[in-house]
Amino acid sequence: MMTYISTRGNAPELSFEDVLLTGLATDGGLYVPKEIPQFTQAEIESWRGLPYTELAHKVIYPFVEGCVESDALKGMIEAVYNNDNFGHKAIAPLQQIDHNEYVLELFNGPTLAFKDFALQLLGRLLDYVLERRHEKVVIMGATSGDTGSAAIEGTKACRNVDIFILHPHGKVSEVQRRQMTTVTGDNIFNIAIEGNFDQAQDMVKASFGDQSFLRGERKLVAVNSINWARIMAQIVYYFYSSLNLGGPLRPMSYSVPTGNFGDIFAGYMAKKMGLPIDQLIIATNSNDVLHRLMSKNQYEVHPLQHTITPSMDIAVSSNFERLLFDLYDRDGAQLADLMARMNAKKDVVSLDEEKMAKARALFDSYAVDEENTIAIMQQVFNETGYLLDPHTAIGVKAARECRRDATVPMITLGTAHPVKFEEAVLRAGYDMPTLPHHLTDLMDREERMHVLPADLAAVQAFIAQHTFTS
Ligand SMILES: *Cc1c(COP(=O)(O)O)cnc(C)c1O
Repeated sequence: MMTYISTRGNAPELSFEDVLLTGLATDGGLYVPKEIPQFTQAEIESWRGLPYTELAHKVIYPFVEGCVESDALKGMIEAVYNNDNFGHKAIAPLQQIDHNEYVLELFNGPTLAFKDFALQLLGRLLDYVLERRHEKVVIMGATSGDTGSAAIEGTKACRNVDIFILHPHGKVSEVQRRQMTTVTGDNIFNIAIEGNFDQAQDMVKASFGDQSFLRGERKLVAVNSINWARIMAQIVYYFYSSLNLGGPLRPMSYSVPTGNFGDIFAGYMAKKMGLPIDQLIIATNSNDVLHRLMSKNQYEVHPLQHTITPSMDIAVSSNFERLLFDLYDRDGAQLADLMARMNAKKDVVSLDEEKMAKARALFDSYAVDEENTIAIMQQVFNETGYLLDPHTAIGVKAARECRRDATVPMITLGTAHPVKFEEAVLRAGYDMPTLPHHLTDLMDREERMHVLPADLAAVQAFIAQHTFTS
């Protein structure tokens, strides 16, 4: 049975099931698998040509073994990764944009961003585990855009989950807001906070820290990318894209539009599991804390900047801790010390040169400002007629700047559909694409949300009052 340990070495070892239902570890760390499943080249080779669902089962099962029955997992995977739900038979299709250069389209799911890959499965896993335990939980999260809608779509059918998503009132784009507020279900609550995203986020953090407002009857579950199940589901499409382009017999390189370091960490996992990967490129916007660390070995948190790529607007990348854990040879005590220094946000922190060398051998990095984001959207459109969303555009720019070997296929993860990001599309000078079929009436659907002041007590009272009244 797979077990999970905390990056800070001082929290109980947990089963997959408990990790699924937990946020941070009690020592403040993040959970990672105690042992990384390994596949041989021959094994991976034997998977060539498999449909997405069958490959997903091969990759995911070792992480859940002992908690989820093989057949049950198969059923969940088939219910999630199908043509109806993901709008394309290939689920994660490749689009060629130049010689040996591709975009892996991860945005054909229900909410048009890659987060559907993880959150659709997470909803099924939660319901399966909760049903068996006769438990119900409360999901609480804050969103500035993509996470909220993907979490709501992923859990709307869950019988044992109530979900409360906070967004800053009036500060989310209309498409993104409507993708949350038009989903109907008695278990879904959209809370528009009269404040900004940071205030919403702080209220969520405070609520996880002290859950007594739920009167001990329920507990909170995290759906942000600190939840291991999200990373796990994202590993699959690295294998899938590689196998479709001749892997594992030749390596691939990946460029990943990065915010919290969840998606690219999944690529790093794929590599550790045996998939030949040459370059892994961290592509950031001007919130470039990771690029500054990688290029200068200086870790320094800057104030958040709001950009035309809002889903990558982060000051701190929480999942980077999972990589640091490996770089520091999985020494939890050393890592707890390092994280205390990094989170103090006082001095500039540098990693030991030997650790930094290891990080640089694994990852390249590049930061792209707004002007260059728009420019690469225009360049790729002129070259191919293909309109990139601005997040994906940052990935393509970084891929072209960092590429070392033109014989290795370069795959940029296409993290969102351009229709979600009107400001960037208009600035690049293009008409808005039409909404995909399942969303054509989005602008006419009825919205449901509750506007609350940016006041923790008011928000907690609302949640307590609306939790499992039925
Ligand atoms: C969430 C998101 C990202 C960043 O992914 P991380 O896993 O946080 O690094 C990039 N692009 C889009 C469109 C997203 O929604």
